[in-house]
Amino acid sequence: MRILTVCAEYAPLAKVGGLGDVTTGLCGWLARRGHEVLVVLPFYGEMRERGVAIEAHAALGPRPAPGSAPASYAVHRLAGQAGAGRGPEIFLVDAPAFFGGGVYASGTAEALRFMLLSRAALEFAASAGFRPDIVHCHDWHAAPAAVMLKGPLRAERAFRQSYAALTIHNIGYQGVFPAGLLEQADAASLQPLFAPEDLAQGDINFLRAGIANADVLTTVSPTHAQEIQTAEYGMGLDGLLRQRRHRLAGILNGVDYAHWDPATDPLLPAHYSARDLVGKQTCRRALAAELGLDLQPGVPVVGLVSRLAQQKGIDIVIHALPALLAARRFCCAILGSGEQGYVAALRDLAASHPGRVAFVEAQDEGLAHRVYAGSDLFLVPSLYEPCGLTQMYAMRYGAVPVVRRTGGLADTVTHFDPATGQGTGSVFLDADVGGLGWGLNAALDWHASPSDWARVVANGMARDWSWEHQGPRYEELFARLVNGGAMPSSS
Ligand code: ADP
Repeated sequence: MRILTVCAEYAPLAKVGGLGDVTTGLCGWLARRGHEVLVVLPFYGEMRERGVAIEAHAALGPRPAPGSAPASYAVHRLAGQAGAGRGPEIFLVDAPAFFGGGVYASGTAEALRFMLLSRAALEFAASAGFRPDIVHCHDWHAAPAAVMLKGPLRAERAFRQSYAALTIHNIGYQGVFPAGLLEQADAASLQPLFAPEDLAQGDINFLRAGIANADVLTTVSPTHAQEIQTAEYGMGLDGLLRQRRHRLAGILNGVDYAHWDPATDPLLPAHYSARDLVGKQTCRRALAAELGLDLQPGVPVVGLVSRLAQQKGIDIVIHALPALLAARRFCCAILGSGEQGYVAALRDLAASHPGRVAFVEAQDEGLAHRVYAGSDLFLVPSLYEPCGLTQMYAMRYGAVPVVRRTGGLADTVTHFDPATGQGTGSVFLDADVGGLGWGLNAALDWHASPSDWARVVANGMARDWSWEHQGPRYEELFARLVNGGAMPSSS
């Protein structure tokens, strides 16, 4: 199949959260399977500053940018890629007036910039003679591409055989802008994308428009595919998703174990595997030294790597930890970036527990790997979690996840039972201080028993979430779409 992937993140070029890991992992797997995969993402100003190299000749452009008369854009090929056929081909939309700064900005400029991404990706494919079977749109940023395929570009020769797949990685981010935006002259080209009933609500919603128009919808775990059809988790889109449920599948995210393997990870101070965990002790000590934790023998390290957003249950962590720290022996290694209120509260928590709680405010890939490797337990107390990758990384790195039972966390972690030796982590239900306390206390109790602990760690390290397992679900879904077949069931 020929697959055109449109996305805002693609690791390591542009990564804020799990989206970047997943687009890279999935596209890489599809290309290795022999599909022709073309990826289009923005050439963010921050990538230019970092020296990301592009090939000398523009593949397309400069062209007038849709929705903004004075600006123009070009599409460049990322330099240094392997020859065609061995991996996805990556192209970058270069329009400094739109894509200055980092991956995400704020305000209505976001509407124009991601509108441009979609338009440029499709125009580029058409002009390059790439006729996609599937246009795979990730999140609201690429939803306009799904709409354009059904609307303005329906008659375009390149897309006559194309199907639009929209993957919802996070329904909490919908791309909602005031409808008045469309009255601005430079946004007029957005108008055809939105149905009158959308506009009547006083706002434009990119994700809603994508959900209404895509040929197939996916989200990133089977449980979350059910959850988003409910008022509790649907964030206002549950009605539309219930209407389109026969087109909705839940497919768990995969993990790229070539990149996330404690036996080979170049970002770690020492290596280890399930058979030989000696290196993990080195990683623990190194992390404690790096972060200034006073790590006494036998005391576990509890890790957390997260965007600092309400979704991630950071409030619960901040409120639950003081009493838990007073009652039990453990240290905390927290890495996060995001909302300033959480940054301040976590700084206070660390300041009031010197040697026991370390907080680093940063987006730091290397430190993230070192926290997974240096931790014994790992917290993921999310209010909702479409899939979640951090609990999967934690398991592979021998850190036992303590998770809330929601979305992909419920699909990937099972509560350990010392009596049977089955289970991979601690799973709690209530998104509050009591719930997290119950989950963490249970795991700390297992830690006190070396044989229980060895079992639960081994169980987690043995789980395999690689793309070899998850990728075929996308392949099957796309193939059925192209062949006009029925939707496969969630998996
Ligand atoms: P989300 O996409 O909602 O943020 P996921 O669990 O799917 O959550 O993915 C999070 C990804 O982002 C993981 O790869 C995690 O290691 C990474 N990550 C989160 N916060 C940071 C940070 N401050 N520094 C480095 N990596 C981070």
